[in-house]
Amino acid sequence: MPSPRNDVQPAAQPPRHGASTEDAERLTDSPCSDSGSPHGGRQKSIVSDVSHLAFVALGANLADPLAQLRAAAAALAELPESRLLQLSSLYRTAPVGIRGQPDFINAVAAIETVLDPQQLLDALFVVERRFGRRREFHHAPRTLDLDLLLYDQRVVDSPRLSVPHPRMHLRAFVLAPLLEIAPLCRIPGRGTAAAWLPAVRGQAIQRLAE
Ligand code: ADP
Ligand code: MG
Repeated sequence: MPSPRNDVQPAAQPPRHGASTEDAERLTDSPCSDSGSPHGGRQKSIVSDVSHLAFVALGANLADPLAQLRAAAAALAELPESRLLQLSSLYRTAPVGIRGQPDFINAVAAIETVLDPQQLLDALFVVERRFGRRREFHHAPRTLDLDLLLYDQRVVDSPRLSVPHPRMHLRAFVLAPLLEIAPLCRIPGRGTAAAWLPAVRGQAIQRLAE
């Protein structure tokens, strides 16, 4: 049994791939909320008064997952009417749900968008399909899985979309990269994301070097 690790080092991290220092500072200070003015005062915002802050989990465990994750991050930077603000480090984790699969590579991206939550999910599905995702069975190995974790501090509960993602607070591979880029992050209905870290301490996770 590997010793579990949580390599989360909030705030001490430099800005990750594709993020400006300004973006990184904004995320570090943000409760991932649309209350207050997390989007205020920024010059590069697409349409600042209607833009939203979303967090997306990336995961892959087939076909060179490291390369898949890097390519997926590049695809997220091209999402319509959206801007990739920051990508966490990449993390290696043991698969959840089914034994005998290769390890996962995971990360979390912060995205500024004017898409609504369902439009954003649809855009994420387009990227998943481009990476060859086939929904064969639940928890099936996949080239790329993109989950919408948070959309401002909004709660969405529709047949196709649940936000916040209903299991995000139970997964080290979500919490660790999320807290790396947004240490003060709050999950609607569940308090701070950081408060859930002790609950996932038993899940082995390793932050990969750059
Ligand atoms: P999982 O990510 O749980 O392994 P899938 O990626 O196959 O499973 O997603 C199953 C379904 O979950 C999708 O059809 C999608 O409509 C739905 N879903 C509900 N909420 C979300 C969310 N926040 N992010 C991504 N998919 C979601
Ligand atoms: Mg998914």
